[in-house]
Amino acid sequence: MIERRGASDVIVVGGGTAGAVVAARLVEAGLRVAVVEAGPDYGSYRLGGWPAELLDACALPETHDWGYRGQGAGGQQLAFERAQVIGGCSAHNGCAQLPGWRGDYDAWAASGCPGWSGEELRPLFARSIERLRVRHFSPEEIQPFQRGFLEAAVAAGIPFTDDVDDLDGGVGCGSEPVNVVDGVRWNTAFAYLDPVRDRRELTIVAEAAVERVLIANGRAYGVRARVAGQPRELRADLVVLCAGVYGTPEILLRSGIGPAADLREHGIEVHADLPAVGANLHDHPASQFEFAGTERLREEFELFARTYWLPEEQALAKIASPMADGPFDLHVYPWVEPDEAQPAGWRCVVPVALLTPKSRGRLRLRSADPAVRAEVDHAYLAEAADAAALGYGVRWALQVIRQPQIAAYLGSPLWFPPDLHDGALDRWIRSAHTHYWHPAGTCRMGPDPAKSAVVDPRGRVHGVRGLRVADASVFQKLPRATPALLIAVLGERIADLILEPRSG
Ligand SMILES: Cc1cc2nc3c(=O)[nH]c(=O)nc-3n(C[C@H](O)[C@H](O)[C@H](O)COP(=O)(O)OP(=O)(O)OC[C@H]3O[C@@H](n4cnc5c(N)ncnc54)[C@H](O)[C@@H]3O)c2cc1C
Repeated sequence: MIERRGASDVIVVGGGTAGAVVAARLVEAGLRVAVVEAGPDYGSYRLGGWPAELLDACALPETHDWGYRGQGAGGQQLAFERAQVIGGCSAHNGCAQLPGWRGDYDAWAASGCPGWSGEELRPLFARSIERLRVRHFSPEEIQPFQRGFLEAAVAAGIPFTDDVDDLDGGVGCGSEPVNVVDGVRWNTAFAYLDPVRDRRELTIVAEAAVERVLIANGRAYGVRARVAGQPRELRADLVVLCAGVYGTPEILLRSGIGPAADLREHGIEVHADLPAVGANLHDHPASQFEFAGTERLREEFELFARTYWLPEEQALAKIASPMADGPFDLHVYPWVEPDEAQPAGWRCVVPVALLTPKSRGRLRLRSADPAVRAEVDHAYLAEAADAAALGYGVRWALQVIRQPQIAAYLGSPLWFPPDLHDGALDRWIRSAHTHYWHPAGTCRMGPDPAKSAVVDPRGRVHGVRGLRVADASVFQKLPRATPALLIAVLGERIADLILEPRSG
């Protein structure tokens, strides 16, 4: 438990997916919490001040992006979207909530991180599912293209299943569970912060970019932020970094926590020599086919939209490559999007993502100046096994798109491998891949800082007291899941750990 000394007991840096959860849970327990968020806070959902594109769960918004950019395996330029707004990426993501496979959590616990096994996390998943109002689409809500995909996947040998969100589920296809309420993307700010917004223990300092953590004698005592262009210091007994996979290591590095030699190169005073800060960066790489939608697609969509809302993404297949070290290692998750350049006004996308990448990259500071974004190198497909597994998934997706149930909706190819022979397909995968928007791992959790850990199993930064991390950066290894639900669960668990008696 925290001692009460400053104006706030806890500063939560970043009111994003995990940050909103951590803050709300601590306020519910009576702690005074300041959430310091770089982006805007549009207030409670019921006040109606949120921009339409952040609410509309039918499509992915393009506003509020931090602007991180980097390269793919073939040197192609890729955008690494991250949301700068209260609610973080949960306020602009695809809303698919798949918890993944129990074995990944059991491996996490077995690596010296007690409390993180599938069975121990199960009640927290249930709590987050309830708060985020996660639900399944009813069969009649599945739009024609998505239904066509599911029927085509079954025809290609993958069984239909209703356990895509079961920790023990395996290969199969079905509709994605989503945190969508009446067409609204139900982000963690609505789910967690709104119920405590009226509590005087909660302060939200919006449009306030944290530059660094304030540290003295090996202990964090606050943060320095830029608020409305002016520097400001905020103090508390505990600082919890929830600034995300890129934001959190940037702040740690600027605070003098990271590889000592790199920090000195930028003239930063070293508080803790932790070589793993910024390392272990990984993501789910993805390859996709794109087609113009057909006239039939347009007509069926018009008919469907008279009765139901028309989501762009709804269905998913979990498949296993020969390299899989668990029940499945690939997701196929088709979507459609309006495209005025196409005769029928629609574009159809069939992507395949590898859920168990072996490749690891790194985030590095370019400068000590907080206004300069870090260099982000994902090292996508650096390990040959990753491209091989993705290649298996691409070949399976090719079988699916040839099935009549989906082929009727697919017109001219817009993004397609020119040659399907092995070597050529491998080159196409490298030069044309994208990602599944799931970067993680830059502040890896583990018991021993000498073995590449940045935080301990309770989320405490090794070597600095009063400082914790709770966001996607702490994963050792991405689970074979869509991570937003797990990140809310992580927020729940780190909050529980902070609230334990004698917790540092
Ligand atoms: C386009 C897109 C689609 C996605 N679709 C899905 C999906 O369908 N399902 C799924 O499970 N996952 C999806 N994801 C991934 C998922 O949303 C993210 O992995 C997850 O939300 C990240 O949570 P987080 O708490 O780690 O970080 P974030 O939610 O990014 O929160 C970090 C917060 O910290 C703030 N911040 C950063 N730096 C600072 C600073 N210096 N000072 C103050 N504040 C700061 C940010 O503004 C942000 O609010 C998607 C992601 C994207 C981008």
